[in-house]
Amino acid sequence: MPAMLPCRAMSEAFEREVREFIARERPPRPEFKLPQTFLEVESKEQFDYLRAWQAKVYDAGYLGFDVPEAYGGRGIQPDKKRIVERELARARAPFFVNTIALTWVAPTILTYGTEAQKQRLLRPLLRADEIWCQGFSEPGAGSDLASLTTRAEATSDGWSVTGHKVWTTLAHFAKWMILLARTDPTAHKYAGLSYFLFPMDAPGVSVQPLIKMTGEGGFNQVVFDSAPMPQDALLGELGQGWAIAMTTLMFERGAAEGSSSERAAPFFEQLARLVELARRTGRSEDPVFRDRIAQLWLEAQALAFATPRAEAAALNAERPLALPLMNKLVGSEWNQRLAELACELLGPEAGLWLGEPSAPDGGEWPRAYMNSFGMTIGGGTSEILRNILGERVLGLPKSK
Ligand SMILES: Cc1cc2nc3c(=O)[nH]c(=O)nc-3n(C[C@H](O)[C@H](O)[C@H](O)COP(=O)(O)OP(=O)(O)OC[C@H]3O[C@@H](n4cnc5c(N)ncnc54)[C@H](O)[C@@H]3O)c2cc1C
Repeated sequence: MPAMLPCRAMSEAFEREVREFIARERPPRPEFKLPQTFLEVESKEQFDYLRAWQAKVYDAGYLGFDVPEAYGGRGIQPDKKRIVERELARARAPFFVNTIALTWVAPTILTYGTEAQKQRLLRPLLRADEIWCQGFSEPGAGSDLASLTTRAEATSDGWSVTGHKVWTTLAHFAKWMILLARTDPTAHKYAGLSYFLFPMDAPGVSVQPLIKMTGEGGFNQVVFDSAPMPQDALLGELGQGWAIAMTTLMFERGAAEGSSSERAAPFFEQLARLVELARRTGRSEDPVFRDRIAQLWLEAQALAFATPRAEAAALNAERPLALPLMNKLVGSEWNQRLAELACELLGPEAGLWLGEPSAPDGGEWPRAYMNSFGMTIGGGTSEILRNILGERVLGLPKSK
């Protein structure tokens, strides 16, 4: 047998080490109900459980492979990051509660932040010591984000914020918010926006929970009444907010759905559960259901191929927008069709809700179906993503 290449041997050793760590340290399933994603963390006990897990993974050295060591990260090591993500997915380990911070705040701060901002903010974010939320959407500004009206007015020692944000995931636990606000009402709507790192414990901030159609919480509305913000809360240049927000959204959409083979692992795992459900409900021989399951499998396979595609510069360089947008669009709709199919397999039993003792799989399928609608809305709706792909990737005429 040929000798193993040193880097292959190293990565296999690292993989083994991570697998052992997860098997040894992952917290036991709690008595209370765990949320399906970071979008539904509602109670303090759910939050504490998930936060402790993230801190443990960080302390063990398995989080922060996108962040230089000087800021509390583990240095830029994409190979190790991939291995950890794959092993966590494989083990169905709990998710990281500070996902917004890890996957879209940190890279935005690394791109635009001052040295002091990077030094102050990155380490506690990685360890989930400080939780982040995203204050972009407003009651009158969702898809048309640039029409937002929350104002940040300059004061003698910083800024004063007045306005109203909505659908703010995790605001009830957050120490910080990435806040997009209007700093120049006379400028063109895109040019008048600035991007801030807002401390949520400022006076004049009120966080009110919003209940989803699953009956669960997780997101909020946030009202600012002359809330003060220090000078150094500004990220990047004054008036540069739109460009920075677009950078954040690219990270958000890239992270949201299946943009890597590691993230595709849960797709296959979900499919396996669906096949098991089809068998249990006696429908696995039904050609219509078989066809629909096969179709989902083919699409999951295509999503899994997105990583090698993203890494091949020749395929990706000309249209860097295409892959994250496409993966977010296809992945979120895929999830919705899978959960819908599961509910069809269950028939009337899909009406049995969480907590109902006779509910199949604890009522997880109807919950997943309802939650799936949020995934096709948050981070850009499917309609908006189709518009962007059509116009900016395929070069079609602009929609009216
Ligand atoms: C689970 C979840 C979590 C979220 N978390 C956050 C968060 O943490 N922070 C945050 O800032 N926001 C968050 N959001 C808000 C999210 O970004 C917005 O809901 C989204 O951008 C859509 O905006 P809207 O709800 O105002 O809908 P609207 O923009 O009013 O859209 C309504 C409908 O019209 C369609 N539409 C609008 N414009 C067009 C067009 N030009 N062409 C075709 N169709 C169009 C849309 O696709 C949609 O179907 C979250 C949303 C969800 C569901």
